[in-house]
Amino acid sequence: MSLDCVIVNNASSVMEHCANSTIAVVSPGPSFRYSSDFDESCADIGLLLKSTSQADVRCFSSSKKYAILINHFRPSRDFKFPGRYLDGCSRSCQYSYLVDNPWFVYSKEEDGLFCLPCVLFATKENLNQFVTEKSNHWTKKSSRFSSHNSKHYHKLSMTQAEALNTTHAAPQKAIDNQLKNIRTEEIAKNRTIIKHIASAIHLCGKQCIALRGHRDDKTSDLSSNQGNFMAILNYSIHGNTVLAAHFNQASKNAIYSSKTIQNEIIEIIGDNRDRILGEIKEAKYYSILCDEVTDVSNKEQVSIVLRFVDNTKSIREEFLDFISTDRVTGEILACNIKSTLVKYGLELENCRGQGYDGASNMSARHGVQGILSKENNKALYVHCNSHILNLCIVQACSLRSIRNMNGTVTESSFFFKNSPKRQSFLELVIDKQTKSKKVKDLCRTRWVYRHEAYECFFELFKYLHDVMLAIVSCDDTYGDMNWDSKTIVTANGLLKSYNNFNFIYSFITTMNCMSDIKPLSIKLQYRTNDVVYAYSKIKDVIEELKLIRANEELLHLWYEQAKSQAGSIGAEP
Ligand SMILES: [Zn+2]
Repeated sequence: MSLDCVIVNNASSVMEHCANSTIAVVSPGPSFRYSSDFDESCADIGLLLKSTSQADVRCFSSSKKYAILINHFRPSRDFKFPGRYLDGCSRSCQYSYLVDNPWFVYSKEEDGLFCLPCVLFATKENLNQFVTEKSNHWTKKSSRFSSHNSKHYHKLSMTQAEALNTTHAAPQKAIDNQLKNIRTEEIAKNRTIIKHIASAIHLCGKQCIALRGHRDDKTSDLSSNQGNFMAILNYSIHGNTVLAAHFNQASKNAIYSSKTIQNEIIEIIGDNRDRILGEIKEAKYYSILCDEVTDVSNKEQVSIVLRFVDNTKSIREEFLDFISTDRVTGEILACNIKSTLVKYGLELENCRGQGYDGASNMSARHGVQGILSKENNKALYVHCNSHILNLCIVQACSLRSIRNMNGTVTESSFFFKNSPKRQSFLELVIDKQTKSKKVKDLCRTRWVYRHEAYECFFELFKYLHDVMLAIVSCDDTYGDMNWDSKTIVTANGLLKSYNNFNFIYSFITTMNCMSDIKPLSIKLQYRTNDVVYAYSKIKDVIEELKLIRANEELLHLWYEQAKSQAGSIGAEP
């Protein structure tokens, strides 16, 4: 993108303006400072032309030319011009010649007149009198003067001298300065625009929302959904005149909101990676964290995160890249990881740790960890402790009574989730008695995260029981709901489970155990964890669970809790 470009139309309008300005007689600017390369020889053009050709003078810098223009020797009214015998009488230059033709200068060295603008600017070949040679024929002066003054190159030189004078006397009017100002304004404006466009993309990324909608091109039909990105941009136009003018007036190919530009901006934002890579290289040693995920387009993506200690001695985890892959065998994944490290200039020999899940393609001897460890045995493999914890809980929860209890909780969640009618009936029964209004689904992959769902179920238990009872007994206390047979059958099954004390006791035990394990799962996922901290926390939880197991009083307390829960719905232990 070349947003910083200068608008050519503006340049031409400035040129036009300058060409129309009135050309006045050259006069010195009010506060001109001598050009550093102006010397005494420049104060006499005749003397200067002895050592420097007119062609070279023409190439002087504009500041030096201006210095010559305003500092050239100008005789005073009482100056004694030297006389010469011409056509039988003594003749000399007259002060009036210079008054009538103020562009002429007198050279003491040459005792002759030069046209200063022509010496400085004229480019024609075979220039002679007044330009490359002095004029000191003090006869027929009028015709000589008017002949020179009528020359095209003289008029052109006069224009240039006048422009030079104007430029130095009022620099803000100079064409290059005007162009520079326009360019600066243009850059500032374009930066504002691109900042908004990039912010909209950044926002979409940060909030994990897709940039496009039904269409991702700008359609004339504003009522159609143009996508999240365009909707955000359209929203930010309100109250922003620069942005509004841009989107209303810019030509179609210079709006900078197309999908190509979006991709370019995403890539540019991604260049932040270079800074992070610099920090990792400075730290030298790093660990790799990897996991696979299937994206919305059903493609397998492997995310690579690097963990390192930065120069402030803080442990950091930074995302490096996504690798798109068709197959997820250990060999292919290891090859992809290695090529990614090479791509970003990271050496595998500086890798000190690998953290993956326990899937065989990652953790086995022929999996990623095995292949990478073969090349660098210092890259220790650590099976994600949070994963291990999850696997342990899954194993523990395979007990039949716990499995049945979880089945009932899940079915209760689906019972309401799939039917707005049942959900509003539940809310009617709850009638502002609890904070929770919805039965939460049990997280299918992270068992520890089920704790919240258990707490919610615990809080709603009495109302769930009342709902099921009302449905099964066709109770019209809350109005005639006219339930279908499927609802009644399911409610009946759930009601029976709720009344089963085994269910209630399994539920209370699981909920209480999870409440002890949940903080560990959260702590194990701290970015700044180190291995010592993680193991001390695991040890603490193991000790705690051992204590629970040995603490009969606590188990009795849980039993009492289950009894009271059963009592709330009139069930017997
Ligand atoms: Zn001239």
